[in-house]
Amino acid sequence: MKISRRKFIQTTSVISTGILTSNVFPEKLTNKIKYTANKEKPLVIATWYHGLPASEKAFEILSSGGTVLDAVEKGINVVENNPNVHSVGLGGYPDAEGNVTLDSCIMDSNGNSGAVAYLNDIKNPISVARLVKEKTPHVLLVGKGAQEFALKNGFKKENLLTPEVKRIWEKWKSTNKKMHDPVKNNHDTIGLLALDKNGNISGGVSTSGWAYKIPGRVGDSAIIGASLFVDNNVGAACSTGLGERAIETVGSFLIVEKMREGYSPLEACKFAIDRLKKYDDFNSFQVSYLALNKNGEYAAFSNKKNFKYAVVTTTFNKVLESDYLLKP
Ligand code: ASP
Repeated sequence: MKISRRKFIQTTSVISTGILTSNVFPEKLTNKIKYTANKEKPLVIATWYHGLPASEKAFEILSSGGTVLDAVEKGINVVENNPNVHSVGLGGYPDAEGNVTLDSCIMDSNGNSGAVAYLNDIKNPISVARLVKEKTPHVLLVGKGAQEFALKNGFKKENLLTPEVKRIWEKWKSTNKKMHDPVKNNHDTIGLLALDKNGNISGGVSTSGWAYKIPGRVGDSAIIGASLFVDNNVGAACSTGLGERAIETVGSFLIVEKMREGYSPLEACKFAIDRLKKYDDFNSFQVSYLALNKNGEYAAFSNKKNFKYAVVTTTFNKVLESDYLLKP
């Protein structure tokens, strides 16, 4: 069943780049950049080191004639299925009560999207999100309803709290009264954007979110426009990092709108990072974005050092270090 969906409409505002304390200096940006001809389609980019096996899988699907949406879903499934990645799917860190709850969303070349939030005991939320898109008139299913929908559609219930992670959580619980600090190494979404050889774009995001979060917390990874946005005429963006801030600044949507105005993916990502400067804790949290445009130009940008992203093209297959704002 094909469902038509409303489009988001949002305006964007001031710009700056490079210097933390400065306000607006648009002359530092090269507005109205012409897109360069793409020589590298298909193209897949994804967040963090685990983005590499995910991108390789996605690229394999694109190279063998699969759809760009299949590439996104199956690429992300690779990370969801890996119990050693503690921020996504099976083996993800749980909430404060020891429940692994997953957020995910997917968006296709036609602007249709699906999402799940606070999903328990189903290890492939990206696949459930895809079915929400394809089989319901809704965009987002949450919690029990999302799980029932998944079970009705053939997904299996399984305990996602692996013995290793259970031990880590029990140790945390015995020594801590507060939520885990989000700036520690306790999160890291898989966000993946793919462009096929015909220039069609889709994207997806999947995470177990903020480790030891308050039960019921939903992050940006379930929110279209925050963690992910795709416009097939323009490009796509996705996020990782402190989801609360990506939601509050509608970061991925902002990036795509900036690319629509003619900014390069890098400049567009800088706009979204710049928007975070208004928060007093800008120096302590981490938010990072990835973007690609219709012609296969891509970029990453982060407020802080150490964001890594994977790129797979016909000639290139690597994890790269993202540029970032907060330099000493
Ligand atoms: N954005 C995710 C969340 O807030 C976590 C992450 O990417 O690090 O749930």
